Amino acid sequence: MTLSENISYTVTKRFLRYTAIDTQSDPLSLSCPSTEKQKNLGTLLVRELLGMGLKDAHLDQYGYVYASIPGNTKKKVPIICFCSHMDTSPDCSGENVKAIIHENYQGQDIVLPDDQNQIIRMKDHPDLKDQIGNDLITASGTTLLGADNKAGIAEIMDAANFLISHPEYKHGEIKILFTPDEEIGRGVDKLDLKKLGADFAYTIDGETLGSIENETFSADGVKLIIHGVSAHPGFAKNKMESAIKIASEILSALPKEYLSPESSSNKEGFIHPVSINGSVEQVNIEFIIRDFSTELLKSHESILEQIVRKVLISYPGSGYDFIVEEQYRNMKSVLDLHPQIIQSGIEAIERSGLTAKLQSIRGGTDGSRLSFMGLPCPNLFAGEHAFHGKQEWVSVQDMQKAVQTIINLVLVLEEKS
Ligand SMILES: [Zn+2]
Repeated sequence: MTLSENISYTVTKRFLRYTAIDTQSDPLSLSCPSTEKQKNLGTLLVRELLGMGLKDAHLDQYGYVYASIPGNTKKKVPIICFCSHMDTSPDCSGENVKAIIHENYQGQDIVLPDDQNQIIRMKDHPDLKDQIGNDLITASGTTLLGADNKAGIAEIMDAANFLISHPEYKHGEIKILFTPDEEIGRGVDKLDLKKLGADFAYTIDGETLGSIENETFSADGVKLIIHGVSAHPGFAKNKMESAIKIASEILSALPKEYLSPESSSNKEGFIHPVSINGSVEQVNIEFIIRDFSTELLKSHESILEQIVRKVLISYPGSGYDFIVEEQYRNMKSVLDLHPQIIQSGIEAIERSGLTAKLQSIRGGTDGSRLSFMGLPCPNLFAGEHAFHGKQEWVSVQDMQKAVQTIINLVLVLEEKS
């Protein structure tokens, strides 16, 4: 029997069970996990993992789930980890998610029942053209679905379930990791890499069937503080230098036709103001700086600082602070040192009957930070689409292919060892 004939999938049932649990994270919370409710899913996952026989499965105080599948081969195989995040985006409600399965999709508009204005149309979601005949899962119109990243969790859980119940398939030791708070950029803050004990990892959090992502943005944040000169407005002549007006001059001098999110795509980077607050005396502006090249990141930052300096020439009493904070780095420079990680991923995708697509992401992943913490970690597809919104969808068939890919990946690594 081939692998695909041998799997009786549990991924869809698991997915429906996990999406029913609200796990929205909260950027304003200082605790870890940022919302206690994420532990409700963590507790369920641990119970299911223990039920499969993974004796060390546990949820730690910060809301991370760790578990190991012992190896069953005599070969020395690298220890790999599969990782997905449990939280959902703060951008859209995740409360009372009612997942709906639309069987045998034929390209029609899908009207979501709890808000008839939410209509999933193929013209807005071009990837739907590859889903004809598949069974689509959506939310009901008032919430996101949470396929980002509960599809990944369900796929890892199903693959683990298969490997435990089919000892005839040989593999090395496998680590399972479910993280909280990825959507608010804190997914690996409290991760214990030593305890995890893996040689490398794959996040299962990508979009399109067959995709594997080895490249992310490099990212910095810039805090610009403008110190103006305040004075009583009635007696301000030749004294006042309004930080508000200085800020507005700086912002209008930013490049618009290039180096902005609105004007860039593919491998182009940008300078992007994301928040502003202040008064006549002081204004704080926060920027995010992005590029695939870490060197270009520095040049974008100096363009920004030159603009600030130029504007301030006309305001001799005013000054500024320019504080750069590293956020994450393009994982490619780490992954290039370990080419077998991507090669094995591609081979696993192809063995699952798919065309492998090596891609870059105009964003970051838990994997970008993990790679630089010493755990090289590309991103494999989970099948999630249109995430962070009410029209999010995933298909049953894509999730099943992801399960196959995870299983094939551990088999490939055993064979090559
Ligand atoms: Zn995600």
